[in-house]
Amino acid sequence: MNAGLLNYPVLQAADILLYRADVVPVGEDQVQHLELSRVCARRWNSLFGRLTGNKTEDGADEREQFFPEPEPLLTPTRRIMGLDGKSKMSKSMGNTIGLLETREEIWNKLRPAVTDPKRIKKTDPGTPEVCNIYHLHKAFSPVATVEHVAVQCSTAGWGCIDCKKVLAESMEQELVPIRTRAAELAATPKLIDDALGAGAERCSKLARETMDVTRDRMGF
Ligand code: SF4
Repeated sequence: MNAGLLNYPVLQAADILLYRADVVPVGEDQVQHLELSRVCARRWNSLFGRLTGNKTEDGADEREQFFPEPEPLLTPTRRIMGLDGKSKMSKSMGNTIGLLETREEIWNKLRPAVTDPKRIKKTDPGTPEVCNIYHLHKAFSPVATVEHVAVQCSTAGWGCIDCKKVLAESMEQELVPIRTRAAELAATPKLIDDALGAGAERCSKLARETMDVTRDRMGF
């Protein structure tokens, strides 16, 4: 078995625990990996956390929770499938939509994207839940539009291209402010450097504190 299978989640746990994060924004597929970080935090606290002087509910000596057990922070759309509808959206699979892509580039990807495979003709009613375009609507469209999509799809009220046009419009509403902000930042790289510098400084301080306490408690 490849050592990476063990080392990769341990490395991920180290990246999280170093900053003593209590929540981690992840996709649904990463929740199981986060579990290892939680196990490491729990184990370390039970071995090296300072005694608080209190008792736990089951009468054991309570220890300080130096490392919080990190919780996943999931969005309502926990997993976005790729445009091929087969695997999650991933650059290496070439099935993504980039947040900074133009309206035309996005439409050129959405137009041929996979929909409900059983909806062959426009007159065939579809099943929104099996269609990735519907899930993208949930991520980008207002609730009323999502409901409208479900009705139109399941009653064959419109074709998939109509549905995708509405999605393209919803995506445009969400992505224009992101593109505008990205263009502003690209025009003033100092803003990015300053933000990264300030973040790095804050994180380095936190990481040093964590490592100092960790080494001290473990006797390194
Ligand atoms: S109408 Fe929309 S939700 Fe229904 S199958 Fe077509 S693209 Fe998917």
